Amino acid sequence: MKKILVTRRLLKSNEDRLKTLFEVNLNSNDELYSQKKLIELSKNCDGILSALTDKLDKDTINKLPKSIKILSNFAVGFGNIDIEAAKQRDIAVTNTPEVLTDATAEIGILLILGACRRAAEGIEGAKASNWKWSADYLIGKQLTGTRLGILGMGRIGKKIAKIAKSLGMIIHYHNRSKLSPDKEEGATYHETLKGLMSVSDVLSICCPASKETVNLINAETLEYLPKGAVVTNVARGDIVDDEALIDALDRRKVYAVGLDVYKGEPNLNPGYLKHKSAFILPHLGSATKETRTAMANLAIDNIDEFFKTGTSKNKVN
Ligand code: NAP
Repeated sequence: MKKILVTRRLLKSNEDRLKTLFEVNLNSNDELYSQKKLIELSKNCDGILSALTDKLDKDTINKLPKSIKILSNFAVGFGNIDIEAAKQRDIAVTNTPEVLTDATAEIGILLILGACRRAAEGIEGAKASNWKWSADYLIGKQLTGTRLGILGMGRIGKKIAKIAKSLGMIIHYHNRSKLSPDKEEGATYHETLKGLMSVSDVLSICCPASKETVNLINAETLEYLPKGAVVTNVARGDIVDDEALIDALDRRKVYAVGLDVYKGEPNLNPGYLKHKSAFILPHLGSATKETRTAMANLAIDNIDEFFKTGTSKNKVN
């Protein structure tokens, strides 16, 4: 039986299934392992079921025991793993696409609604019972007729586009490559980020974190937005230069932000906290029972498939 290190606690049904397939080293206290501890615990293991909280950089990967053949990441994003370093060591890296698309898109829409309709201020006022209805109380931005710019029209971006269209938003997008018209479903393609941002009343960041996208939203690119635009990020914190975005909020270049993900999570730049117009969530994208169950099952399937066939359909390196 193959031995698998599972770095984070999973839902019980998933851990029960894992036990039927592999010898498992579970993390019942859900402790956040240091890189040193993760290396120690992976001794005599054949694979690791990792999470986005594990920083599997080049140094860590190079120190893993030779017996490790697969890193099955419990996420669609794999910015936490140096996939090239893994490839050099002949370690397969897999992810969990598709199964989390709907849940994450729901949070993407919540960020847009929350930021545009001033939900953070509204919740604060309601809880303090110190609000008074008036014709101009907490007036926000209506979505109907507003242009939504999607940076990264992939699985999650497309689902957000579909819901946003039903809310009356007009969809624009930027990818490195243009989609075929049937996949665009009426959205307007922009070959450049500048082109997309200049028409984005609301920006929804949906692309992966990669060497190319780190700090893609920065002081220079934020200037492309129309004045008073809204910026939302359901993808990864690394894509945004926080200081630049906070400065844009300070200057009212940006009207509001809706954020689910942060650089250096769980800490977020304190500059966001001084802005009432920041609608912030603690990385809830895939957090539904159905989705977390399906993600863990897929991460388990990826390991099972890999040891049975030597590869996996969700291998990313
Ligand atoms: P996907 O289907 O692979 O879509 C990614 C899209 O981004 C593609 O359309 C891709 O198009 C575009 N893209 C990639 N690199 C780009 C670049 N340099 N410039 C512009 N566009 C670029 O991925 P997905 O399943 O939608 O997931 C997207 C990301 O969401 C994940 O990587 C993950 O980080 C994040 N996520 C967050 C949560 C959460 O809890 N908040 C949950 C799930 C996923 P081209 O290749 O044509 O450029």
